[in-house]
Amino acid sequence: MSDAVPTLEEFEQEILAFLDANAEKKELQRSEESKWGEGSDDVSLFEEVDRDKELEDLKAAQAWRAKRYDAGLGWISGPTEYGGRQLPPAYDRLYANLEGRYKIPNMGFFGIGLGMVAPTINAHATKEVKDLYLAKMYRGDLVGCQLFSEPGAGSDLAGLQTKAERDGDEWILNGQKVWTSGAHYSDIGEIICRTDPDQPKHKGLTGFVVDMRAPGVEVRPLRQMTGGANFNEVFFTDVRVHDSHRLGDVNEGWTVALTTLMNERASIGGGGGGGMGLASLTRLAQLVEHFGVNDDPLVRQKLMDVYIHFQVAKYNNQRAMDKIKAGQLPGPEMSMAKLSLTNNLWRTANFVTDVLGPRVIADTGEWGTFAWGQLLCGVPGMKVAGGTDEVMKNIVGERVLGLPKDPGIDAKAPFSQLLKN
Ligand SMILES: Cc1cc2nc3c(=O)[nH]c(=O)nc-3n(C[C@H](O)[C@H](O)[C@H](O)COP(=O)(O)OP(=O)(O)OC[C@H]3O[C@@H](n4cnc5c(N)ncnc54)[C@H](O)[C@@H]3O)c2cc1C
Repeated sequence: MSDAVPTLEEFEQEILAFLDANAEKKELQRSEESKWGEGSDDVSLFEEVDRDKELEDLKAAQAWRAKRYDAGLGWISGPTEYGGRQLPPAYDRLYANLEGRYKIPNMGFFGIGLGMVAPTINAHATKEVKDLYLAKMYRGDLVGCQLFSEPGAGSDLAGLQTKAERDGDEWILNGQKVWTSGAHYSDIGEIICRTDPDQPKHKGLTGFVVDMRAPGVEVRPLRQMTGGANFNEVFFTDVRVHDSHRLGDVNEGWTVALTTLMNERASIGGGGGGGMGLASLTRLAQLVEHFGVNDDPLVRQKLMDVYIHFQVAKYNNQRAMDKIKAGQLPGPEMSMAKLSLTNNLWRTANFVTDVLGPRVIADTGEWGTFAWGQLLCGVPGMKVAGGTDEVMKNIVGERVLGLPKDPGIDAKAPFSQLLKN
């Protein structure tokens, strides 16, 4: 591999050579495409998960990431010292577009680790921690999870109470996290803890990277209404973390959490131009045709409504991505992108439900029906994950429209005093 920056055309050839040598191309003929309605990977995000099968899928996903990384395509825009190519984000997008044409394992296992945890490690960790984890995460050898939410702290994340107390060169963690996606197969987690309850709510927090297999970490599954169990409760009892694994300064964990949250909103909202692969007009039109309602003017109108909203989200996302490309930090645009995505998926689920009626929840084996039930049951969770719709609207209202701030709490009062009130 030469150090010279390849042109996008040269890079495309490099990517295609890698993909052709290592993966099978998807058939895009109509007959093949129609299999999608029977539950292809497009709706796998919402599928019921059998944990044994999940581990097999994880191994396949790790093997694919290792191949990518070893071919110099594992962290295209990342620093060369961690196996990256230091190329502009457009090269990342090119890879994602081209890879989408091939049959590869489900890469959802890495969404949180690479979309949120790794960028936070890169921005806030010590060199020792970066050296230990970054390359391994991008190679797929290590999977990361996000340990933020607690039973009493979700939207109000800064109200979290998991404690970290200093003991020499180590910190001792005690408390409980909840809704931790993928904790059961993760190797490391990014955790935000309260390190000084006498500081104001947003000030006494500190971030750490924690070993998910350390003594005192207990992961318990939670089953959700889709039938899957992607979430967990995670209990910490006297878990020791070395100070070198601290993210950022002591009591500055809110800044660390914001880095992760902005990346989370960018990776959820930005995925597939705000559509996560479900925004295909062709596919929705196929469904409408198959069920013989393509001449119904109301169906046509609703279909166009779905399409137009996805297009608007796509252009809005492009604006946000261009801002990032110009070296600016992602801001409220990410909240808009996240809000548009979930609203558009909800619009899609409602449209499909209108077309299919009860067939959307009855597993009859009929083409183009039941798989959509997973979307219908999964979108409400997406409207909550990574900041709820209401919280996104607060951010857009305050930071974009300049509306008065949510009354909230006394931001200067010590957290310990707020707990007593
Ligand atoms: C699919 C999924 C994956 C997740 N993965 C993770 C993960 O990996 N790691 C992790 O740490 N967490 C994860 N979560 C948790 C997620 O971050 C929280 O569910 C979310 O922050 C909301 O918190 P909560 O559930 O405690 O709801 P609450 O914050 O209690 O909210 C309850 C309701 O009140 C509304 N509300 C709250 N505050 C306001 C306000 N100020 N103004 C208006 N309305 C308000 C909310 O919109 C919501 O409707 C995940 C959640 C989901 C659904």
